[in-house]
This record gives sequence, C-alpha cells and structure tokens, in this order.
Amino acid sequence: MSYCVNCGVELRESESHCPLCDTKVVNPRKPYNENAERAYPRRYDIVLPAENRMMTALLATILSFLPALTCVIVDYVISEKATWSLYVAIAMGVLWSFVLPPIVVRKHRDVISLLIGTISLSLGLWLIEKIVPVKGWFMSLALPIVICASFFILIIILAAKYVVFGVLKMMAFFFSFTALMVVVIEIVTDMYMDDNVQLQWSLIVFVPLVLVSLVMLVVERKKRVKDEMRKKFHI
Ligand SMILES: [Zn+2]
Repeated sequence: MSYCVNCGVELRESESHCPLCDTKVVNPRKPYNENAERAYPRRYDIVLPAENRMMTALLATILSFLPALTCVIVDYVISEKATWSLYVAIAMGVLWSFVLPPIVVRKHRDVISLLIGTISLSLGLWLIEKIVPVKGWFMSLALPIVICASFFILIIILAAKYVVFGVLKMMAFFFSFTALMVVVIEIVTDMYMDDNVQLQWSLIVFVPLVLVSLVMLVVERKKRVKDEMRKKFHI
C-alpha cells in the first residue's frame, strides 16, 4: 500500500499519480502497475450541460404540482373535502412561482422574478385568509409586510446592479436597509395589534445592524486612504 507524499491519500498500485493532488507516486517497493486493480474507472464521461430551459421548467412544474395534487386527492378521499391539503397546494403554487421565473425569464431575471414572487406570495396569503377562521390580517398585516420586504429587496438588487459599490459598502448598505426594514415591520405589526406604535424589539435589532454598517464604512474608508497612500508614496 502506498500513500501520497503530499496529501496522504491511500493509493492503489494502478495509480502513477495521486488522484487527489496529482503528485507523482514514487514507491520503490510497490512500483506502478498498469494492470493492477483500479479504484475507479479509467474512462471519464464528459457530461455536457444541457441547456434545455423548457424541459427544466416542465420538470419544476411537475415537481411542484404533483405533491399538491396528491395531497388534495388524499385529503378528499379521507375527509371528503379539501381542508389541510389546500395549504399545501397554495404553498406549492407560491414555491412554483419562485422557481419558474429564474428558469424561463432571460432578461432582468431578478427583478421580474421578484415581482412575480411578490404577486404570487400576496395571492397565496390572501387565499389562506379566505380559508382560515381568523380574518382581517391580510390587508393590514401580511400585504404591507410583503410589499415592504419586496421593495427593500428590489432596492438592494438595483443598488448591487447599477450603483458601483465595494463589497464592504454593499454589505453596510444591506445591513442598514435590513435594520430599517425590521423597524418598518414592527411599525406595521404594532398598527395591526392596537394602532399604537411603540418601537421595542426592532430597536434591539436596528442598533447593532447600524453599528456594524458604520464599522464597515469606516474600514472601507481606511482601506481607501491606504490605497491613496500606496499610490502617492509608492509604499
Ligand atoms: Zn496526493
């Protein structure tokens, strides 16, 4: 038995080079033997990436709707009406609307996917409100949160795409926007609960996120100053 001198992987006699790091195998006691038993097949099949969008879309559709349909049928057979399975069907429909656009859409994929996802998530939540006993939460709680979240994600996508940011600046932007979103969610939740906005838990999230963003911006600044120094003084 030989072992690779570089990475220590166990080697068969049929290996002239380590399969992991390609280091040449040198073992005078166990020389390379072309005909020894191989650990894996010699032939490599090249798998060509099949760029068949329609086929993938069809597969995604089947994989989304088959479980939903199965659940509805099982539910109907057991209780003679669709109850719990409706939630599964709605969830799978929403999931499908998130999976499909990135496969089918070619231009402005992220923005279109976000738009379709937002519409379908809102529609899904509206349908759930129709079937649960507790009413009145969709318009005043779920929809504002979904729209806010989508709007924030849209801003982040557009910023990352069209505004030239460094990695640290982008992260600082992301964190401060998330902090802002958490506050908006608490405002919406408070309005829904008792029309009385009192910021509590969101501030606990807001403050550290903003602090982290500020630290990132400072570090970014420093790096810039360093780069300037390097350019000017050839350090
Ligand atoms: Zn090796």
